[in-house]
Amino acid sequence: MILKNSFSLSEIRKCIKIANKIKNGFPIQYIIKNWEFYGVEIKVGKGVLIPRQDTETLVDIALKIAKKNNKILDLGTGSGCISAAIAKNKKDVKIFAVEKYNKAYKFAKKNLKSFKNSVKLIKGDILDEKFSKNFKEIDVIISNPPYLTKKEINSLEKEVKFEPLTALYGGENGLKYYKKISEIWKNSLKKNAYIIFEIGFSQKEYVELILKRNGFFNIKTYLDSNKKNRVVVGQKNF
Ligand code: GLN
Repeated sequence: MILKNSFSLSEIRKCIKIANKIKNGFPIQYIIKNWEFYGVEIKVGKGVLIPRQDTETLVDIALKIAKKNNKILDLGTGSGCISAAIAKNKKDVKIFAVEKYNKAYKFAKKNLKSFKNSVKLIKGDILDEKFSKNFKEIDVIISNPPYLTKKEINSLEKEVKFEPLTALYGGENGLKYYKKISEIWKNSLKKNAYIIFEIGFSQKEYVELILKRNGFFNIKTYLDSNKKNRVVVGQKNF
């Protein structure tokens, strides 16, 4: 590559503008427009949550649990990173990725394009019981729902403040989505099917209890690569 030794005024202005954005916390991922997740390049931008390394734990576990020909539901897919990672590493499953918000949906559409033989992207509200009735005989539900508490939202790092609140805020105590998903979507699961949640590292006991109360068994929590509680799995026995 040949480096230029002089820049035009407009190029310099552009650089200063970008430098200022970064200084104010604007995520670098939104500037470079993509981010690697589980070996897959994921397109990101304003309006979609940037894939986190912690979420790779969820994919690891899903890949261990999912069997040949399984029907998998990814609730609140956001950028589509989880579905893309699973589809890339397991060819013989059918994934339904659900997203409600327009901006995130558009990114998911781009990110899942090359996996369209195994992933179907669907627009829908994961808190809507009527919508959930469209899905039956599912083998595995996966979700990295919004799970931050009101207190955590109020003390977000400046970079995270540029990301969509709709992907982060899990209600006053952060547990709203775990409760609703367990209640509503258990009816879409087969007997002995699995539910796999990403959690905030302090939510283990609460999420395990929510699953127990909804009739799940074989409940286990797994650590992420930083040794923090990150993924809770339950099995449906009814
Ligand atoms: N892990 C994300 C964060 O701490 C939260 C993601 C989520 O709420 N699902 O920023």
